[in-house]
Amino acid sequence: MYLSRAFIPTIKEIPSEAQIASHRLMLRAGLVRQTSAGIYAWLPLGLRVLRNIERIVREEQNAAGAQEVLMPTIQPAELWKESGRYDDYGKEMLRIVDRHEREMLYGPTNEEMITDLFRQSVKSYRELPINLYHIQWKFRDEVRPRFGVMRGREFLMKDAYSFDADHAGAVRSYRAMMLAYMRTFQRLGLKAIPMVADTGPIGGDLSHEFIVLAPTGESQVYYDASFEGVDYLAGGNNPDLDKFFADITSRYAATDEKHDTAKWAEVPEANRREGRGIEVGHIFYFGTKYTKAMNVSVAGPDGKMFHPEMGSYGIGVSRLVGAAIEASHDDAGIIWPDAIAPFKAAILNLKNGDAACDGLCERLYAAMDGDALYDDRSDRAGVKFNDADLMGHPWQIIVGPRGAAAGKVELKRRATGERAELSPEDALAKVLG
Ligand code: ATP
Ligand code: MG
Repeated sequence: MYLSRAFIPTIKEIPSEAQIASHRLMLRAGLVRQTSAGIYAWLPLGLRVLRNIERIVREEQNAAGAQEVLMPTIQPAELWKESGRYDDYGKEMLRIVDRHEREMLYGPTNEEMITDLFRQSVKSYRELPINLYHIQWKFRDEVRPRFGVMRGREFLMKDAYSFDADHAGAVRSYRAMMLAYMRTFQRLGLKAIPMVADTGPIGGDLSHEFIVLAPTGESQVYYDASFEGVDYLAGGNNPDLDKFFADITSRYAATDEKHDTAKWAEVPEANRREGRGIEVGHIFYFGTKYTKAMNVSVAGPDGKMFHPEMGSYGIGVSRLVGAAIEASHDDAGIIWPDAIAPFKAAILNLKNGDAACDGLCERLYAAMDGDALYDDRSDRAGVKFNDADLMGHPWQIIVGPRGAAAGKVELKRRATGERAELSPEDALAKVLG
C-alpha cells in the first residue's frame, strides 16, 4: 500500500478520552474510530490486524477439529426464554422489537442458538462429538464501555460450542480447546496464561480464563514463572491431552477472585509472579445445562434418549488487538508481534523524487508482494520515522539517496531499535525470512 494514498488518518494530539496506551495508540495510528460509545469502525490498518488475528484463531480451531459456521447477530427472544436467560441477562442485552412486534435481540453470545441448531439436526450419539464455532460480532450494552476496543459494546468474538455423549468426551473436548487456545496465543506472539475461573452456578473446576499480562489489565493475577518457558507449538496439535492438561494445571495461576494463599505458599518463592492481566479468552464446561433446559436429547447405543454434554469457548478477537498493544509498545508507538502486524515492513523513501531512491523503493515494494506500507509521501524524514514507529511495523527499510546510489538500505528492527546497513536483497531476505 502506498502511504500517500492510504486511508490511515493518524492524529498528533493525544485524544483526551483515551486512558490507556492501546486506546491512545489505536486512535493516533488511525486503526479505528469510535462511532458511538463502545462502538468502533475499523479502518484499513486496524482491519488488517483484526483479520490476521482472526486467521490464526480460525486455523487453530480448524486444526482442533472444530467446524466453522456463521450464525446471525440478531436472535429471536423465544430461545432465551426457553433457557431462562432472557430475564437473567438484564440490561446488557440489547433488545429489539421488529415491525411485527416480535421480540428480537442482538446476540451477546450464542449458547441458545447453537443448541437450537443442534436439536433440529442431530438425533443419535453416532453423530457426536461435534464442535461448531463462528467468528461474529456480539453486542453487550456494557455500563461503562472503556479502554477502546478492549471493553466495547460491539465486539468480535470467536465462540465455539462442543457437544459430547458423556462427561469423559466433554472433558476431552475441553482439553482440546484449551490446547488450541495456548497454541493460538503463542502464534499471535502473546504470553497468555490459563487461570482457573469461576464456573458460576454449575460448579466444578472446568472453567479457565486466558490472561495476557499487561500492567493496565483489569485483573490482578498470581502465577508460577515456569509458565513463561512452555512451548505449546512443539508437540503438534495432537499430543497426549491428559498429559498436557495435567502439566498445565500442575502450575499455579489464578486471578484474585480465585487466589488461594495456601497453594500460593507452596510455589517456590523465586517463581512467584504477581501482576495485572487482560482476559482474552474464557472456556467453560457446563454439562447438560442448556440441553436439559431446551429439551435436547439424542438416542444412545441402547436406544435410550439422553441429554448431550456441552462446553463453550470464547476468544475476544477485537479485544486481542488492544491487548497485543498493551503488551507491546513504547513511548514512540506500537510494536506489533510479527504474526499480526498489519504490514511486515514499512519502506521509507527519504528523498521522494530522487530517481535512485524511487527506483529502489519501487523494486523493494514489488518484492514485498503487498505486505509493505511504502511511505512515498514528500514529507521530511523525521515525519516518516515517527509515523513508522507509531504504526509499529516490525521492520523499517530505510532508503536514502547516499545508500541508494551505493546499492544499500538501512534495516531497522522496531522492537529492538537495531539498525544495519545491508544490500536490498539481504534486507528483503531478513524481512521475508
Ligand atoms: P469480562 O469479564 O471482560 O467482561 P466476560 O467474562 O463477560 O468478559 P465472556 O463471556 O467470557 O466475557 O466472553 C468471551 C471473551 O470475549 C472474553 O474473554 C473477552 O476476551 C471478550 N469480551 C467480553 N466482553 C467484551 C467486551 N465488552 N469488549 C471486548 N471483548 C469482550
Ligand atoms: Mg469471561
